[in-house]
Amino acid sequence: MGLNSRMDKKQDIRALTKTQLRDFFIENGDKAFRGNQVYEWLWAKSAHSFEDMTNISKETRQMLENHFVINHIEVDYMQRSSDGTVKNALRLHDGLIVESVLIPTKSRTTACVSSQVGCSLDCKFCATAQLKKMRNLNPDEIYDQVAAINKESLLYYNHKLSNIVFMGMGEPLMNYNNVLKAIDKITSPEGLGISPKRITLSTSGLPKMIKKLADDGVKFNLAVSLHSAIDEVRSRIMPFSTAFPLNELKEALIYWYAKTNSRVSYEYVVWKGINDGKEAINELVKFCKYVPCKVNLIEYNSIDADEFQQANPQAIENYIGVLEMNNIIVNVRRSRGKDIDAACGQLANKKS
Ligand code: SAH
Repeated sequence: MGLNSRMDKKQDIRALTKTQLRDFFIENGDKAFRGNQVYEWLWAKSAHSFEDMTNISKETRQMLENHFVINHIEVDYMQRSSDGTVKNALRLHDGLIVESVLIPTKSRTTACVSSQVGCSLDCKFCATAQLKKMRNLNPDEIYDQVAAINKESLLYYNHKLSNIVFMGMGEPLMNYNNVLKAIDKITSPEGLGISPKRITLSTSGLPKMIKKLADDGVKFNLAVSLHSAIDEVRSRIMPFSTAFPLNELKEALIYWYAKTNSRVSYEYVVWKGINDGKEAINELVKFCKYVPCKVNLIEYNSIDADEFQQANPQAIENYIGVLEMNNIIVNVRRSRGKDIDAACGQLANKKS
């Protein structure tokens, strides 16, 4: 019985590389080329079942069925916001749910994808942090989120997905290998063929892992959730960061820029009484001088945490004024999809 059930356990076909898949067909008396065809179905065409593979013979499909499973994610439910934002709750093969978001603007659509179920970190202003971390997502689960949004983009907006941001649930740099493998597939012509220049990985700022990205020569963009350039404030609102003082973050970013020549984005929310004063602005300006960068001021999305309240418009104007005076690029990011809990920091597996 034990032996049988072990033998019955089918392998996840998408854990195989293209070479392994080609070898599988050779070993089973078929042509290596069949491996290429199946690989194309699995990735570029994002097939959910062997039955979908219409140019593969029935016997071969049956043979695949006997050996393998396709652990494709399924859209559990989908919500559309009044502003066009779409939130997908995706069911993973083990029943866990993860969320991703499609954000349309006039000229493009952006996918906001998750890297973990829940999150390992403890940012006090983020709803995802209130879920405990369940597990890392596999490369194919990350890829599937993007493929699903790409389909929705074609369906609702008549064009392919144009940008991807790793700003959904989880800390991507705490699931480093899987996130990089997923990005490889997303950018590969055999996957979705999306340019790495259109992908941004957002991290809460783990210095060692930022250096690793630089060493690995990645071609995508880096965003850092800064929120404060004062250690004492930052470690209060992002307690994990006590272990990663701003000095180390600065050093890692200098290293990143030296190796990649790629400008860093700082994500920054301004809250009443926390970082809306002069000193906070001046310290941010100083921090911005270390490497070429831009600042994205993000609107706060309330998560019912009393200590956090969006700063008043004057405080935001002060930030913009001082940053621009110092020739620092600053964008104000309006929140999208708030009515369906799809905005930054609101992903917590809630149906609205
Ligand atoms: N862990 C990664 C990616 C996920 S968070 C990171 O920290 O960068 C995506 C962005 O949303 C981060 O910049 C985060 O600081 C921000 N964010 C979290 N909670 C928010 C909230 N309630 N309102 C606005 N932005 C929030």
